[in-house]
Amino acid sequence: MGAVFNNTKKQLDSILSLLEEDYSNKQQLKSAIVKLKKTDRVLKKNLAIKLDSGKRKSFLAYRSQHNNARGPYKGGIRFHPDVSEDEVKALSIWMTIKCAVVGIPYGGGKGGIKVNPKLLSTTELKRLSQKYAEFITPHIGPWQDIPAPDVNTNEQVIAWMLEAYEKKIDQHATATFTGKPIALGGSLGRTEATGLGGFVIFESYAKRKKLIPRRTTIAVQGFGNVGYWFACFVSGAGYKLVAVSDSTGAIYNPRGLNVDKLAEYKKEFGSFKQSAVKKKLKYLTNEELLTLDVNVLVPAALENAVNKKNAPDVKARVVLELANGPTTPEADKILFEKGIDVLPDVLGNAGGVTVSYFEWVQNLHGYHWTKQRVNKELRKIMKKAFTEVDQVKRNKNISFRQAAYLLATKRVIDAMILRGEV
Ligand code: NAD
Repeated sequence: MGAVFNNTKKQLDSILSLLEEDYSNKQQLKSAIVKLKKTDRVLKKNLAIKLDSGKRKSFLAYRSQHNNARGPYKGGIRFHPDVSEDEVKALSIWMTIKCAVVGIPYGGGKGGIKVNPKLLSTTELKRLSQKYAEFITPHIGPWQDIPAPDVNTNEQVIAWMLEAYEKKIDQHATATFTGKPIALGGSLGRTEATGLGGFVIFESYAKRKKLIPRRTTIAVQGFGNVGYWFACFVSGAGYKLVAVSDSTGAIYNPRGLNVDKLAEYKKEFGSFKQSAVKKKLKYLTNEELLTLDVNVLVPAALENAVNKKNAPDVKARVVLELANGPTTPEADKILFEKGIDVLPDVLGNAGGVTVSYFEWVQNLHGYHWTKQRVNKELRKIMKKAFTEVDQVKRNKNISFRQAAYLLATKRVIDAMILRGEV
């Protein structure tokens, strides 16, 4: 993933002069920025588990707690061979910013294990998940740090972790984890939350720009949880989805694609590349998808997808970031100079953590919301966040990313000042 933690520092630096306009006590602001560029704590440990073969194997595990001035640390846990200290630190900063952009009462955290979970059996995965939960138990809790699933982790992993954690503390505490199965206190609407949140942001932008759905073409990179649900919502609203990819490449039809059919093909043939061969559909590489002549480009797969190499060729007029960190700072600059609006990840994909927040609220109250209530509250929060970011953007004549960072960072700094932390 490269030195993404450095990218986060560059993102903070890009709003420094704007922050200076708002804080008369420059020393205090300086201390706040210094603090924001560091994490409060990074927990790191080699976790050894017994494999099914009887042998033991160790996996490096992390939990980064960035800032908790606005509330408990909050963030997912990913299982991936590329997990590193640099990556969890960067992702934990983005969580602090994201929670502040949408105004939910959390700070930022992130965790991960350097492992390829596809190489472990279910029992090995369960042992590793529970070992991880025991490792972080002293540092998590409903008012301390609230983990959730992320890349390659799911509600089953969280259920295992919850069990190990509750055993250790000898009581029920469902509000310590979000992304749980419904039967263990999970929230309705969590599965589609990130896609729906992204759609509400896009819809708000489209309204402001007076985009006409049937004349607005969209390409989505990634057809996992986020990409799939976003594709469903935009198609449902009459926008023209023309290209969608997975890791093997994209399917393209300038006249529009049917999301249900795509999902069927993927199930039947395993990948879009195979689907294109079997169903004689037009195939593109992921690079071709990113530079396709469309109105809207939606990176919903990985970090650094739009970079300085391909940014000069991006033809979309707006990039909606649904993945975390899909545009490098260099590419961001290129897109800005080309007049392309980038709706940043900290706004675009904040729907997921927002419904996680609803799950926590429901757990603390011992109460279940209906899906209608979840979606209604989600829409309200996402619309408000867009309006606030858009207002800052227009007042200061800056990019959406800078506006989101400015708004969020000020909220975090104000909390730090009120607490007397800086
Ligand atoms: P996922 O694992 O369900 O799906 C990822 C998709 O990306 C898959 O379709 C995969 O084939 C595709 N992909 C992988 N490598 C690719 C490549 N090289 N080129 C193109 N496509 C590729 O993951 P997800 O939950 O949909 O998450 C996607 C992104 O959104 C991640 O960056 C994640 O951190 C971010 N995100 C997810 C959530 C959430 O609620 N799931 C919330 C916030 C942010």
